[in-house]
Amino acid sequence: MNRLLREDRSAGSGGAGEAEGDGAKGGRWAHNDEFNHDFPARVKLRGRFETYRGTRGFKLDMESSQNTMRAVCVPAADRPELVIETLAKPAVRPGSVRVRVGACGICHSDALTVHNVFPGITFPRAPGHEIAGTIDAVGEGVTGFAVGDRVGVGWHGGHCGRCDRCRRGDFITCRALQVPGMAYDGGYAEYVVVPANALARIPSELRDEEAAPLLCAGVTTYNALRHSPARAGDLVAVLGIGGLGHLAVQFAAKMGFETVAIARGAQKASFARELGAHHYVDSRAVDVGEELQRLGGAAVVLSTVTAADAMQPALQGLGIDGQLLVVGAAMEPLAVPTAPMIGGRHSIKAWPSGTCVDSEETMAFAVRHGVRAMIETMPFDRAPDAYARMMRGDARFRMVLTA
Ligand SMILES: [Zn+2]
Ligand SMILES: [Zn+2]
Repeated sequence: MNRLLREDRSAGSGGAGEAEGDGAKGGRWAHNDEFNHDFPARVKLRGRFETYRGTRGFKLDMESSQNTMRAVCVPAADRPELVIETLAKPAVRPGSVRVRVGACGICHSDALTVHNVFPGITFPRAPGHEIAGTIDAVGEGVTGFAVGDRVGVGWHGGHCGRCDRCRRGDFITCRALQVPGMAYDGGYAEYVVVPANALARIPSELRDEEAAPLLCAGVTTYNALRHSPARAGDLVAVLGIGGLGHLAVQFAAKMGFETVAIARGAQKASFARELGAHHYVDSRAVDVGEELQRLGGAAVVLSTVTAADAMQPALQGLGIDGQLLVVGAAMEPLAVPTAPMIGGRHSIKAWPSGTCVDSEETMAFAVRHGVRAMIETMPFDRAPDAYARMMRGDARFRMVLTA
């Protein structure tokens, strides 16, 4: 505990999550004997009042509150819920930094933590892998990052550096990939400790709540598109215009593709065009495959939906050498008619997010070309509501928790 306190002070931490009126900031409580008794102290922590019962005086209580934080956790493997807890503020480790979280996006993949369907998660665990904030402590051996730097962390939350995939330099496929919110506590918390090799710098043009959704939804769609076989001017369709899709349509249009947005219902047509789509296909009104063929056949259909039966018709819309590129996971298998695939030399590929450098490039592109996620923000304490809203499909279009 003492070591922690020293670290906090030497790092000059003055985070918004710390207790108001603490002894270190002015000593007014520490020097007031009136408070050095055993009685409950009301401490304001991130806008909420907590009661701490101390036996050794108010000063010590205040110091211990400096070392706590609020986090929204899944309490146990068999309890798929989110509860607000006061935890020890995590200590920075060698090779890592501690980030004071400014914003954390809520991703559908957070359900993997809530429902314990990702291997190796231990509980309690705070989800969250769209983390944007400011470094408040730097661990031993870390170079290139300093206290006060604005950084983000996405699905790539660290890699082992030793496996065959890392030795090839392909860190996102690391066999021991660390995903924040699964391998360690993620961004549904006031502080996270993150390996320095997973940090993406946030450009000054982006606020934390703007950067956060670009760190998973953004980098996943941007990276998938830029590594796809489509070239400028090719017909690229984005299937679904929700959290991932509304970013994918913007990226596709700004990358110079002839961009098709596919969604359900005529009412989304004008929104799709606002995002930059050149064409809109209402999958309820027309045959998606036929419509894409009428437009010349898609070089790429980027599928952001999470239902296999919604992906299936798009296969008929692929042009020669066309590719179905999957970034949204469906629980059920995808049925594929193989004969047309052979004639059209079609392929199906999936794409997993990107590394911290990919995230930096995603944010740079977004700044340069005006791509932004449309977000709804809620304070951290309302994480359970925000998560439920996302899971119901009601979010327009990314939920972001803010400090
Ligand atoms: Zn995600
Ligand atoms: Zn590795």
